[in-house]
Amino acid sequence: MPAALEFVNDAIAQHKIAQYILAVNPEKVMALRQDASLRALFEKASLLIPDGIGVVMATRVLYGLPIRRVAGADLMQNICSLSAKKGYRIYIYGAAEDVNRGAVDVLQQRYPGINIVGRCNGYVKEEQMGDLIADINSSRTNVLFVALGSPKQEQWIDKWQEALEVNVCQGIGGTLDTIVGKVKRAPILFQRLGLEWFYRLLKEPARAGRQVALPVFLFLVLCSKIKRYSPT
Ligand code: UDP
Repeated sequence: MPAALEFVNDAIAQHKIAQYILAVNPEKVMALRQDASLRALFEKASLLIPDGIGVVMATRVLYGLPIRRVAGADLMQNICSLSAKKGYRIYIYGAAEDVNRGAVDVLQQRYPGINIVGRCNGYVKEEQMGDLIADINSSRTNVLFVALGSPKQEQWIDKWQEALEVNVCQGIGGTLDTIVGKVKRAPILFQRLGLEWFYRLLKEPARAGRQVALPVFLFLVLCSKIKRYSPT
């Protein structure tokens, strides 16, 4: 988390353009295996954060790296807190209109002094996209949050990256829904135990299909580990 926040600070201090942060979890890794263009897009990201506990475990098991989980929702809030202190300009794009508006209100109360220079719901028509990009750029945005869900937000960032004049862009999935309380995040104990995915599965059983990726991912990690240790 400290390294991710330093990344944001550096990108703004060095006037970098459209550096993008994407979150990785087992579900996304499995999707990338099926979709070469999505994979290329993740490979081009400026920073990948280990959003899912499965990815943290895989990185430890396969490479012995002592990384910790950085949940995209936590990073977003920490960037907001940092921005309130440093005066960074924030733009919030995505989610339903009431959720987007409500999230801006909550963030303004939670981080006094935060400078949210613009916002837009996530249901902009393609022919109006040029106007949205112009609004983001004319607001002299430092940090743009994109909350369209995955892979929509990653594809949007990739498509518009060259037109965007923001310093940093983070894909935040359903984070705005959790900020307004429309979707509940797991209790802190579940988060600490790395069981946030399990809580979400209990709350939203309709997502079970998406989460089938998890056991398959763990199986592939184990196969990969065994392959490394077996004599060739
Ligand atoms: N969304 C949007 N525009 C779209 C499709 C989705 O703004 O065209 C929003 C949706 O309202 C929700 C979020 O994207 O707020 C998707 O949340 P989800 O939890 O499915 O995303 P994940 O974190 O799983 O990628």
